Amino acid sequence: MNNPVVLTTHGLQAFYGDAQALFGIDFELRRGEVVAIIGANGAGKSTFLKCLTGLVKAERDAIRYAKEGIGGIPPGEIVKKGIAMVPEGRRLFPSLTVEENLLMGAFAGRKGSWNLERLFAMFPILKEKRALPSGALSGGQQQMVAIGRALMSNPDVLLCDELSLGLAPIVIKEIYDALPSIIGDGMSVVVVEQDVSLAQQVSQRVYCYQEGRVSLEGASQSLTREQISEAYFGV
Ligand code: ATP
Repeated sequence: MNNPVVLTTHGLQAFYGDAQALFGIDFELRRGEVVAIIGANGAGKSTFLKCLTGLVKAERDAIRYAKEGIGGIPPGEIVKKGIAMVPEGRRLFPSLTVEENLLMGAFAGRKGSWNLERLFAMFPILKEKRALPSGALSGGQQQMVAIGRALMSNPDVLLCDELSLGLAPIVIKEIYDALPSIIGDGMSVVVVEQDVSLAQQVSQRVYCYQEGRVSLEGASQSLTREQISEAYFGV
């Protein structure tokens, strides 16, 4: 893909107190690209996304976005700059309605084509359930709300942490089927996925992390099962 690069990390390190979780991650994301990050539990995938969204501290210039160092910038500022996350476990406000949860996402005030109408066209079930508390929805529907809330901030980069976790295959398919319309107007997407074959199917490129390092990177369709299992487990 020759689209312009929108986000890079270079030698990104991250720590929890004295414990180091990331040991120099080099990463690149282009406009309109879907990149998947795979790796075993504890490999550092969530930590990486949290660095990109300002939830875990990073060196300013270890993360570059739109030609600017953004490592360590507060999360609210990062949303305003155009990076939004669908967090692991969705983190909705269960007593607020579907519509109220979605409108929360618009708080950053960024202009763009995403609004309630467009979201309801993408996930019609949310229109039907717009006035219900989000806690009353199924897991898959809650995941749609979480995606919708992130899209309501009209991001240029959407980060998705384990969208498929705990969901039935048919629901996972419904959710990932929305990706083409999401990237259609040039948004870039990073998906963290435990399900390797799903990760390969939905992305153009894959990074595999192992113990806080990139153990493999390549075009999704070109990576073999052997390469991936070696990079994943280190065997
Ligand atoms: P999972 O799929 O289990 O979420 P992951 O690849 O996302 O795994 P991380 O959650 O990023 O991995 O964890 C990377 C390392 O950082 C692990 O060693 C983990 O124990 C450690 N870690 C993660 N969160 C914290 C925290 N809040 N405090 C201390 N250590 C943490």
